[in-house]
Amino acid sequence: MKLTVLEETDTFIKVLIEESSPDFVNAIRRTLLLDVPKLAIENVTIYDNTSALFDEIVAHRLGLLPLPTDLETLVFRQDCVCEGEGCPNCTVHYTISKEGECTVYSGDLNAEDPAWAVVDDRIPILRLLKDQRIILEAEALLGTGKQHAKWQTASGAGYGYYPQIEITGDCNGCRECVTMCPQDVLDVKKGKAVVKNLENCNLCKTCQEVCSRNAITVRGDPSRIIFQFETDGALTARRALTEAMKILQAHYRELEEALQ
Ligand SMILES: [Zn+2]
Repeated sequence: MKLTVLEETDTFIKVLIEESSPDFVNAIRRTLLLDVPKLAIENVTIYDNTSALFDEIVAHRLGLLPLPTDLETLVFRQDCVCEGEGCPNCTVHYTISKEGECTVYSGDLNAEDPAWAVVDDRIPILRLLKDQRIILEAEALLGTGKQHAKWQTASGAGYGYYPQIEITGDCNGCRECVTMCPQDVLDVKKGKAVVKNLENCNLCKTCQEVCSRNAITVRGDPSRIIFQFETDGALTARRALTEAMKILQAHYRELEEALQ
């Protein structure tokens, strides 16, 4: 298998996977969504809440906030030496204490250590009117997307076959395909259609359909796959992908051992 990074930011990655098959890339996708661990708020103790929102709604909203996840430091609570009691190895504490009139944002969540400060501090949680108060303590734990969507770091994960466009000598450079292509893939040079941005092609085959001379054939190559996803910032996209690969590798090893 060969992997080439086509586009990358902290929270987005697009890679080309070659010498592979769609089912294997799908296994990576599923691992990424279900098994890569992430930190999220699980337990909330509310001391005072005179806002218009119920405690449950506030707790639910807190659960969905992306928190920075350090997989080197944290372990799952069920595997921790504290045996489920909660300790610094498996639990991160946050507090909020605010009085209105104001909007309480994710940035108002005070982490016990600045290293655990929320990824995005402008996510609104609730609105407080004059003299309304919210005082709470929250515990964040590691979890996976299999347990609850709040522990799912990757989203919009999907893949498509790498496009192959063939243009035969029957092309007369009428530009119909260039005008109709929604992705700006084609151009006309020296009276003949040519491919300008192959990777933009989403295999919609509009060019193939509008060509009156049947000069264009569009195909997807199942051994070359473009795979992309984004993360909520809890992990970088690159780290999430590496973690998914590691987990998948461990699953295959387990299966191998079970077979023996
Ligand atoms: Zn612990």
